[in-house]
Amino acid sequence: QELAADVVVIGAGGAGMAAATTANQAGKTVIVIEKASKMGGNTILSGGAFNAVDDGSETAIANKDSVEKHYTQTFEGGDKQGDPKLVRTLVENAWSGVVWLKSLGMEFQDGVFTVTGGMWPRAHKPVEPEGTGFFKTYQEYIDKNKGITMVYNTTADELIVENGIVTGVRCTGKSGNTITVKAQNGVVLATGGFGQNIEMRMKYNEISKKWPTLDASIPSTNTSGITGDGMIMAEKIGANLVQMENIQLLPLGDPKTGSLSGNIEHAVESRIFVNLDGKRFVNEGGRRDEMTLALFDQKDTTMYIVMDSDTYPKGDELNNFGESIASLVSAGRSLKADTLEELAQLMGVPADNLIGTVKAYNRYCKDGDLAGTADEFGRTLFSDTDGINNGINDGPFYAAVRVPTVHHTMGGVQINELAQAISTSGEVIPGLFAAGEVTGGIHGSNRLGGNALSDTIVFGRIAGTSASNFARQE
Ligand code: ADP
Repeated sequence: QELAADVVVIGAGGAGMAAATTANQAGKTVIVIEKASKMGGNTILSGGAFNAVDDGSETAIANKDSVEKHYTQTFEGGDKQGDPKLVRTLVENAWSGVVWLKSLGMEFQDGVFTVTGGMWPRAHKPVEPEGTGFFKTYQEYIDKNKGITMVYNTTADELIVENGIVTGVRCTGKSGNTITVKAQNGVVLATGGFGQNIEMRMKYNEISKKWPTLDASIPSTNTSGITGDGMIMAEKIGANLVQMENIQLLPLGDPKTGSLSGNIEHAVESRIFVNLDGKRFVNEGGRRDEMTLALFDQKDTTMYIVMDSDTYPKGDELNNFGESIASLVSAGRSLKADTLEELAQLMGVPADNLIGTVKAYNRYCKDGDLAGTADEFGRTLFSDTDGINNGINDGPFYAAVRVPTVHHTMGGVQINELAQAISTSGEVIPGLFAAGEVTGGIHGSNRLGGNALSDTIVFGRIAGTSASNFARQE
């Protein structure tokens, strides 16, 4: 079977759908090849946090935020390993990404919040739970407009190169049939990372030796199809893979599945991490890699997220993943108790320790005698701003158990600011564009929480435009 369109997109996750929609808005026909039976990828499983600064807006001023601060935190948060030009592109175009999504009908909640590892309150949160709002928006666009064909249950196997130009992709369909998909203009690679490819995880972790192990004992937040296919395909045709050894873990995995579901935190400011001794062990407002490395040093590499009823005043509110706290409690996935003493009993930690830990922590929160200063772990993000989250002191109290989980792979196909793929000899690969987690070199050694969705939208849109503009010189 042979299919053809102006632009071919591989992967129907966040970056792929942003690229497909943008190309269609530019008047192009688009075919999207997707391995799974539906769109969404890892993006739909995320908490939905979208970092973007509307420079000079009331929200930005109130939070002492700016595009420049977003740049600095992203660049330094990745140990200055990211390509400064790509980081600039990311932060300077993030807000217009929000505006674009709104123009397509997507709704965001008012204000911003601090997502774990985001380091600052600048995450916009969709009204719909998790990442579902993005895909509802794209599906509505597809239904209303002609020209985007979704081809599901179809796995891209190899890129087709003719006279040095990427012209399409060979795929395997549901029944093992071969499908060749040709592009009149460009091909966009948007297949995500390799968090579920254990062999690749272990191979590249050998280089950085950042994590004690990334073997099968460490779960992942990722959906099962996230196996590095795009990187493997691109490398075969000469693309340069960069910083593959930079792999991100979160300290927030469900102990059984590694998934983020069941995570009860709403925002950094209102919760603490407690180990099995009932003690805090890290700056919970810090970098994702530092928090997770610290968790590896705790007993059974296990911790609890602890907070009070400020986050769930009625007791049936939703977490960031659309699950109600009441349902998590009745399923035994969250613990709930009227006093800290009882909570400690449910957690199996020494009650004196937990009570002492919380008391010491509260001194830094609103009305505490140390409010406004950094604590012994260097934490500065406390619940001292809104007057509601004044520390952990109002029962009922909540705790949920969490373990390290592989979340994001920062390395991948090298691109430039036009999302053109770059070869091992440093040249643009004609016809090939890449966006999202399949690319490397933006986030450096550690991606800021909330920057992945911005990445998919910013570079997905750029890739869609670049692929539309690409014309083969016959
Ligand atoms: P990003 O956040 O970078 O957009 P996602 O994880 O959201 O990444 O989406 C990547 C998508 O690519 C997933 O839906 C995944 O199933 C799809 N995918 C991965 N490998 C292939 C492949 N070989 N062929 C087709 N689709 C693929």
